[in-house]
Amino acid sequence: MEKPMRKQRQDEEASDEDSGPDERDLNAPPTEEKQLEMLYDPAADDADEKWVQKHLGADIKTDAVLNCPSCFTPLSYACQRHEKFQNQFRAIFVLNCLIDRSTSLIYNEETQEHLSAAPPGTPSDQVYFNVSCAHCGERVGVVDSEEIFVFYNVFPSR
Ligand SMILES: [Zn+2]
Repeated sequence: MEKPMRKQRQDEEASDEDSGPDERDLNAPPTEEKQLEMLYDPAADDADEKWVQKHLGADIKTDAVLNCPSCFTPLSYACQRHEKFQNQFRAIFVLNCLIDRSTSLIYNEETQEHLSAAPPGTPSDQVYFNVSCAHCGERVGVVDSEEIFVFYNVFPSR
């Protein structure tokens, strides 16, 4: 009794595949979401590349060239302007910058309240350090524990 029943079920499934609505869905062009998934390359697991993509987007592009406001030494050629604060920039590739790691600071990017000493026990991912121009010593910004620089005292140019 079992064998004929199983065969009948197979026949039904086979006929469904021939004209069922499911097959049409499978042949439909991929949705936009699917296409985006296909563009993602899981083999690109280089840590630096991922980090750059996470923080700067897929393309490294810059909103400005940042210079020291005092001596005009270039500080970064690849930065992102803050969405709200036009005088604030984020960068990971910097030059001519000195980091003062002797004092841990807390800094609030949203309110731009900055440069108060970090109380003991502050999580390391909330600690910032002063950054100054290596040429003249002007304070130009801060850097966080992930080496993301936040410049708030710079002269932007292109
Ligand atoms: Zn300077």
